[in-house]
Amino acid sequence: MMKDNVSLHDSWDREHLWHPYTSTINPLPTYKVKSAKGVVITLDDGTQLIDGMSSWWCVIHGYNNEYINEAAKAQIDEMAHVMFGGFTHEPAIELGKLLLEIAPPSMHNIFYADSGSVAVEVAMKMAVQAAVSKTGDHRKSNFVTIRSGYHGDTWNAMSVCDPVTGMHGAFGPSLPVRYFVESPRIGFYDEWDDEAITPLAEMLAEHHDDIAALILEPVVQGAGGMRFYHPQYLVEARRLCDRYGVYLIFDEIATGFWRTGKCFAWEWAGVEPDIMCVGKGLTAGYMTMSAVLTTREVADTISRGEAGVLMHGPTFMANPLACAVAIASLKLLRESDMASRVAKLEEIMKEELAAVKHREGVRDVRVLGSIGVIEMEEPVDVGEFQKRCVEAGVWIRPFGRNVYIMPPYVISEEQLRFLCRTMIDILP
Ligand code: PMP
Repeated sequence: MMKDNVSLHDSWDREHLWHPYTSTINPLPTYKVKSAKGVVITLDDGTQLIDGMSSWWCVIHGYNNEYINEAAKAQIDEMAHVMFGGFTHEPAIELGKLLLEIAPPSMHNIFYADSGSVAVEVAMKMAVQAAVSKTGDHRKSNFVTIRSGYHGDTWNAMSVCDPVTGMHGAFGPSLPVRYFVESPRIGFYDEWDDEAITPLAEMLAEHHDDIAALILEPVVQGAGGMRFYHPQYLVEARRLCDRYGVYLIFDEIATGFWRTGKCFAWEWAGVEPDIMCVGKGLTAGYMTMSAVLTTREVADTISRGEAGVLMHGPTFMANPLACAVAIASLKLLRESDMASRVAKLEEIMKEELAAVKHREGVRDVRVLGSIGVIEMEEPVDVGEFQKRCVEAGVWIRPFGRNVYIMPPYVISEEQLRFLCRTMIDILP
C-alpha cells in the first residue's frame, strides 16, 4: 500500500526529463523507483509493487538476479568495453555460441547491435544489401509487412510499424513508403483457412521485383496490438518468400527467450527465417543489446556485393559487459525447464483471466505463454489505471484498449494470481 505524505512524483523530473511517448505540457505521472528485487519493485516511499510488465518484456529472470549480478561484476573488473573493429573477446564468442545453440539451425552469422530498433535497422540493411547483391537490381530494396506490427522507433523500423497506429502520421512524407498487407486474420487458437494468406500472396505476386524482404513478428504482434495469430501464416509466408525470391525477417525481439512458450516463436511454425532479430530478454533487462542472426547465404551474398561488407558498425558493438550479462541469462534459461515453467504461468493466467471473458466492456481475453491480455472495447485511461495499480500494489501499464501482463518468469503462483485478480478488479 502507498504511504501518505511522500512525493512519488519528482518535480525536477517532470520539468526536464522526457519519458516515453509523454507530453512535456501535460505529462502523465511517473513514480520514483528506489530498488527492485525478484518481481517486486520498491518505490521511494517504500510502496511495493508486483511487476506485471518485466519492464517491457526484458526482465525475464526478475530484478537484481544474483547470478547475473556476479557475471556483470566479474566482467567489469576485466574490461567494460573494447572496440569490436579489429578486436574480439571471449564474452562475444561465448555468447555467439550460446545463441547459435538455440537459434534456428540455418542461422550462422551474428551481428551484435545496440537495441531492438537498431537490430531491425541492421536486419533491413542486410536484406537490401543481400537482395541487390544477388539480383544486381537496385530496385529490389523495399519491404512488405503486415498491419498491426511494431518494430521500433528508429527511421526504418518506424516505416514498417502499423501505418495507422504506428508513427507514420507524425512524420508524413519523410518516412519511406512500404507495402502493407492486412494483419493475419486467423487467431492462434482458431482453425486455419488458406484464404488468410491471399492478401500477402497477391501483394508479393505483384510487387516482388521491388521487395527485398518480408518483415514480421512471428505469432505475437506486440506493441502494435497484442495480437496472437496462426503459425500456419508463417509456413505460407515462407513458401511465398521462396517462390518470389524475397527474404524473410523474423523480429523476435519481443517474442524471444520463451515469452510465447517456445524458446523462439518461429518454433510454433517450424519454418526458419533468413534473418532474425533478438533483443529485450537477451540481456535479461540489465542493459541494452540486441543481435541479428542470419544464414551463411545472406552473409556471403552481402560480402560478394558492391560494398563487400555489411554497412554497419556501432561503437558499442558486442559490448563485453552486455555480452557477459547475456551469457549468464542464457545459462539460467538453459538450466531451467522453461517449457514447463512458462506452461504453468500460461495455465494460471488462462484460469484467472477467464473470469472476465464475458464481462461488459471486455472485447477479448487471450493468453499465450507468459502473455495475458484483456482487450477492452474502449481505450483505457493509462494515468488513472496506473494510479489504481500503485494503490493496489501491482505494476501494469496498458496501451490503447489492451490491458496486459507479461511478468518475469520467476513470479510465484501466489503473486501471479494476485496480479491477475488485481488487474481484473481495476478494469474500468
Ligand atoms: N521489435 C519489437 C517486436 C519490439 O517489441 C520492440 C520494442 N518494444 C522493438 C523492436 C524495439 O526495441 P527497442 O525498444 O529495444 O529499440
